[in-house]
Amino acid sequence: MARRPLIAGNWKMHKTIPEAVALVEALLPRLKSLASMDLVVCPPFVALEAVSKRLRGTSIEVGAQNMHWEPQGAYTGEISAPMLVDLCKYVILGHSERRQYFAESDEIVRRKLEAALAHGLMPILCVGEALEQRERGETIGHVEQQLRAALKDLTAEQVHKIVIAYEPIWAIGTGRAATPEDAGAVVEEAIRPLLHKLFGEDTAESVRVLYGGSVKPENAGAFFALEDIDGALVGGASLQAESFIGIAQAAAA
Ligand code: PGA
Repeated sequence: MARRPLIAGNWKMHKTIPEAVALVEALLPRLKSLASMDLVVCPPFVALEAVSKRLRGTSIEVGAQNMHWEPQGAYTGEISAPMLVDLCKYVILGHSERRQYFAESDEIVRRKLEAALAHGLMPILCVGEALEQRERGETIGHVEQQLRAALKDLTAEQVHKIVIAYEPIWAIGTGRAATPEDAGAVVEEAIRPLLHKLFGEDTAESVRVLYGGSVKPENAGAFFALEDIDGALVGGASLQAESFIGIAQAAAA
């Protein structure tokens, strides 16, 4: 089964509303030859409306970077899935920065995943090990445990709607990407076998798995050349049209 490549830009806490609109304006004229993949931009919450308006009728999709698991309630400062569904199609969940700085546990990530799916959002679920875990040889076990916890109560049908992003924490924003061999090994030895075991071969073959962590136009092609990696979740290099399009072009090549 051929999986459609997906390149998602995680803008994190960057770009004001005018800057966000300017960035998508710069992306739009450059989509030629990129029709064979899904392109997603994930601006900060406050820019979602302006960006999704500008992208209506185009081939670029929009994603949020986070959400709360409850549909509404007394959760000051939070945003829920029903608030997002009119603005975007995807939502990044369990990013390591959320886990690290906002104390998101596996259980919180699981609840968010369930809520996103219940409201028709497509989650981009992030997993990945810290440097100490890699050095102790715990990478495979850790990624499996994060996935097991997040996918615990889901059906195969639900899991088909999820995109998984393997993002080693030590590679995020450091300029030190994983080697394609190391990233490919985690997908091949941990992610797809676990999906197979829990949800069957069809799911293991059809779920898209991205690599994230210091992806740039110069190194992207080597990740996309791997059979098991279907695209990238891009932070820093998604903040400029030139580099984001360069990465997408590497996926098209
Ligand atoms: P980076 O971030 O590309 O800046 O390393 C990736 C991410 O956090 O998703």
